[in-house]
Amino acid sequence: MPTYSYVCTSCGHTFDTHQTFSEEALTECPKCKKELRKQFGNLGVSFKGTGFYKNDSVPARSSDSD
Ligand SMILES: [Zn+2]
Repeated sequence: MPTYSYVCTSCGHTFDTHQTFSEEALTECPKCKKELRKQFGNLGVSFKGTGFYKNDSVPARSSDSD
């Protein structure tokens, strides 16, 4: 049975669980009930992809007061 690693995107709780391929992926942190993210073994999957988009939403400083 494959082992999946999960990490909570909210509290950072990590744990491994055994699931078959037919089982649904977990989505809820057992600690804080927030969103889990599945980690994939040794592939070094990063969290850098989507989700963090600070650069896109930098508020323009229109009030350049003096
Ligand atoms: Zn959590």
